[in-house]
Amino acid sequence: MKVMVAIKRVLDYNVAPRIARDGTSVDLSNAKMSMNPFDEIAVEEAVRLKEAGVATEVVVVSCGVAQAQETLRNALAMGADRAILVESSAELQPLAVAKLLKALVEKEQPSLVILGKQAIDNDSNQAGQMLAALAGLPQATFASKVTISDGHVMVVREVDGGAETLSLTLPAVVTTDLRLNEPRYVTLPNIMKAKKKPLATIEPESLGVDVSPRLKTLKVVEPSKRTAGVTLPDVKALVEKLKSEAKVL
Ligand code: AMP
Repeated sequence: MKVMVAIKRVLDYNVAPRIARDGTSVDLSNAKMSMNPFDEIAVEEAVRLKEAGVATEVVVVSCGVAQAQETLRNALAMGADRAILVESSAELQPLAVAKLLKALVEKEQPSLVILGKQAIDNDSNQAGQMLAALAGLPQATFASKVTISDGHVMVVREVDGGAETLSLTLPAVVTTDLRLNEPRYVTLPNIMKAKKKPLATIEPESLGVDVSPRLKTLKVVEPSKRTAGVTLPDVKALVEKLKSEAKVL
């Protein structure tokens, strides 16, 4: 069984975003970039399926600039077998990504496609759902447990106030939630091994996909600054403040 995993190179989650001068984007110059955390979980799950003898091959795919090769190498170091970069310097919105992934799904015919539930840079939470719709595949989003058996994938999904269990016929699309697993750290020997694993680079045109943006970002602003808090000596003082300053009592 072949598993395909989609991974995005994003601004590292520890880095505070800076707004670019044009006021419509985030300044990524010299910023630390990493694999989208939900996609790390997706790679981990696919590698675990391979280690358990359920999957036979794990193919990782990224769409974006040439530097996304580093992100793909990282996934190869985690245990993926092969990587594909769809190289483009255009702004790739979720619909374009979904179309590119659909074309790759047709070419590669994976039994399972795993994506992150959302990219932490745009918080769109769209690509997985769009891919499933375009490719006509069943989907289970926000997975916290994935079990394969008998041509089916059983997915426990995180939903408001609980969990839902779905059974999908393979091939299918699954998106990962935070509690699915804890991704491994890559070791130096595996980083060295990953350098020798195959990484193919293709262009969106070769997949017959028009990646031009459909949405225009008009404005990006910083969240409003929170004023510093104060420590009060006792409940009496708190009640006083709630009456006189906050005027909520
Ligand atoms: P989004 O809909 O943009 O929040 O992204 C959801 C998921 O789609 C991500 O967690 C990735 O698995 C995948 N994805 C989004 N953008 C890309 C990209 N440029 N290349 C590969 N996968 C992507």
